[in-house]
Amino acid sequence: ARADAVASAAMPCVSGDGIRIEAFANLGSLDDADIAMANGAEGSGLLRTEFLFLERDCAPDIAEQAALYGRIAARLDGRPLIIRLLDIGGDKPASYLPIAAEENPALGLRGIRVGLAMPDILDRQLRAILSVVPHGQCRIMVPMVASVSELLAVRQRVDALRRELVIDHPVEVGIMVETPAAAVTAAMLARHADFLSIGTNDLTQYALAMDRGNPAVAAGVDGLHPAVLGLIALTTAGASTHKRWVGVCGGLASDRLAIPLLLGLGVTELSAAPHFVPDLNALVRRLSIAECRRHAEAALQLESADQVRALARRFEEGLS
Ligand code: PEP
Ligand code: MG
Repeated sequence: ARADAVASAAMPCVSGDGIRIEAFANLGSLDDADIAMANGAEGSGLLRTEFLFLERDCAPDIAEQAALYGRIAARLDGRPLIIRLLDIGGDKPASYLPIAAEENPALGLRGIRVGLAMPDILDRQLRAILSVVPHGQCRIMVPMVASVSELLAVRQRVDALRRELVIDHPVEVGIMVETPAAAVTAAMLARHADFLSIGTNDLTQYALAMDRGNPAVAAGVDGLHPAVLGLIALTTAGASTHKRWVGVCGGLASDRLAIPLLLGLGVTELSAAPHFVPDLNALVRRLSIAECRRHAEAALQLESADQVRALARRFEEGLS
């Protein structure tokens, strides 16, 4: 059955009622790219670049970054590679970055806030990404966006570098939706973003004001909480006003009970753990997106994550 699943994953992922859903994989290393390919991933919806920056004495230079991004792109053999800009700071400190200890690291200097506070770090990473050939395979994704101005600042920098490096082809710049602010203002952000990808791990943490790593509240940190589903619905509604696609690259994309709900809410790209891609593909083939929409409508009326999970279990049992 596993071999069948991997083989069917080699075909484009389409729902039972014929809607195209992109089945991507999250990557956190070079080896992950091989695992993703072996499992039939159609590309990567999230390359976490932090691994290149942690546990060392100085930031990687342009050549080192470019070599690594290029190798990962080559292993994906032309498939899309969405490279997330450095999402470091707070709980993921790097000794060479002058970030003072913070009382609330999750609310402090992290994600794109670091890149904007330390333009050299951002600049080197953008130059490395822009140098990867074939041009157009790599897309840029901005983490922890809370305001339109952050996205515009990155876009301006990308456009300036394209002029300087004489790069004619357009470069896609998208955002992660990880803050409630980004979900609520998705329509404004979508005006300036090529795509939106929901980071449900952080979005859940910030929506519920519960630390995703704190065992004392772990039982409550569930992305199927009605508040999170509501923010996902706001995101897809906002993005559709500018015809932008919405993906999910957080843990919900690897959660069998969540997937029908995400697709019912209008998500069309799922970036999952590399080993989960065959299961993801097989599940999507069994789903009718029309039914998923009705399922999601019903879920949005419920009052707790437990109720949503119970509904989702019944939905899964009813699949043919
Ligand atoms: C997320 O927050 O859902 C996400 C994908 O980013 P990370 O888990 O790397 O914070
Ligand atoms: Mg995150």
